[in-house]
Amino acid sequence: MLRRGQGAVSHELISHEHFRGRHGRFAVDALAELDTAALTGLFQELGIELGFDQGLLLHREQRGQDLASALTSAIEHAGGEVRCGIKVLGLSRKRNWTVATSEGQFSAKRVVLALGGPHFPQLGGSEDGLRIARALGHSIEPHSPAVVGLRTREVWPFRLAGLWMECAVALTNGSKKLGESRGLVLFTAGALVGPAIAAVSREVEPALSHGDELLLSLNFYPEQTQSEVATWFFRTLGQHTRKFAPDAMNDMLPRRLAAELCRVAGVDPRWRCDRLDPDQRKRVETQLTDTRLNITGTLGWRAAEATRGGVNVREVDPGTFQSKKQKGLHIVGDLLDVDAPIAAMNVHFALASGWCAGQGL
Ligand SMILES: Cc1cc2nc3c(=O)[nH]c(=O)nc-3n(C[C@H](O)[C@H](O)[C@H](O)COP(=O)(O)OP(=O)(O)OC[C@H]3O[C@@H](n4cnc5c(N)ncnc54)[C@H](O)[C@@H]3O)c2cc1C
Repeated sequence: MLRRGQGAVSHELISHEHFRGRHGRFAVDALAELDTAALTGLFQELGIELGFDQGLLLHREQRGQDLASALTSAIEHAGGEVRCGIKVLGLSRKRNWTVATSEGQFSAKRVVLALGGPHFPQLGGSEDGLRIARALGHSIEPHSPAVVGLRTREVWPFRLAGLWMECAVALTNGSKKLGESRGLVLFTAGALVGPAIAAVSREVEPALSHGDELLLSLNFYPEQTQSEVATWFFRTLGQHTRKFAPDAMNDMLPRRLAAELCRVAGVDPRWRCDRLDPDQRKRVETQLTDTRLNITGTLGWRAAEATRGGVNVREVDPGTFQSKKQKGLHIVGDLLDVDAPIAAMNVHFALASGWCAGQGL
C-alpha cells in the first residue's frame, strides 16, 4: 500500500481503456508518447530511479517530494523559473497572451493552462482553471468529485470503523450497473473508502443529481463462487451448533463484521447456530456475497483525489494539447474531461499531456 508522501506516477495496468470522460480515447496519443518505459527513462535522466511495487510505478527511494524537486531542477536547468505562491487571475490575448496574476502581469507567446480540477482544495485545487477556460470560449463538461469515499444511508458500516476487507463491489442504479471493481474497502466512522470504492465513485454524484437511487453491493468472497461460499457457510454452522453465529463465522470473517451482517439479515448475533431456521441461514449467507448499501453521496471535493468532467476534449488537440479555440493556448492534466478510477493513472496522464504540450511548444 502507498505510504504517506510516496508519490506513484503510474500503474502497470495503465491504458487509455481505463480513462473515462465523454471521449476516453482522447488519452491514447499522450499515453503512447510517454508510456511507462519513457516515463521511467525521463526520470532516470533526472537522477530518479522508478520501479514497480504492487502494480504502482514509484520512486524506489520512496520519497514523492524528490520527484517534484527533480522536475523543478530540470526546469531551472533549461533556463526556466518556478514561482510559487502567485495566483493566476485571468488570461487574455491580443497579439500575445497576458497572464494576470496576484503579482502583476506576464506576457507570453504561448501558455500552458495546468491549473487542475477543484478536488482537494487543501492542496490548491480550485475552479480557477475551469473558469478561465470557459471565459476563453471552451465548453465545460459537468464536473463532480471522483476517486473519493462514499456515504451510505445505513449506519451499521460506521460501527466497523478501522476494518478493511478485500471485496468485489458493484454500483447499480435499478437494473443498470454503473461500475464495478475489486480491491480494498475500508470502513470508517462516516463513509466507505479505499481503492475499490474510489474506482466506482465517479458515477455517484451525477446519478444522485438526477434523483437516481444507488445501491452498492459488497461481496466479501470475491475469490469464491456463490456455491462454494454456501457450502462453507452451511458446514460451519453445522460444525458449531452451540456457538453464537458470529463466533462460528469468525474463521473466515472478522467477528464484528459477521455480527453486523447477522443483524442486517434479521438474525440476533446472540443466537446460537442451531437456533437459525433455513430462512435465516439463507439470509445471512446472502449477506456474505451481496451486502447492499444505499449510497447517499460522496465525501465531496475536500476528499476527492480527481475531478470528473472538465474542459471538453473535442476542443483540444490530443497530440499537442493545443486549444482549437485559442491559438497558443495548451490545456493539460486534470483540467480536461479525462479521468481514471485509479489515482496513479491520473498523474501519468497529467505528466504525459504536459510532455506532449511541451513538444508542441
Ligand atoms: C491527496 C491526493 C493524492 C493523490 N495521489 C496520487 C498518487 O499517488 N498517484 C497519482 O497518480 N495521482 C495522485 N493524485 C492525483 C494527481 O495528484 C493528479 O492527477 C495530478 O496532480 C494532476 O496534475 P495537474 O497538473 O493537472 O493538476 P494539479 O497537480 O492539481 O496542479 C494544479 C496546480 O495549479 C494550482 N492552481 C490552481 N488554481 C490556481 C490559480 N488560480 N493560480 C495559481 N495556481 C493555481 C494548484 O495549486 C495546483 O498546484 C492524488 C491527488 C490527491 C488530491
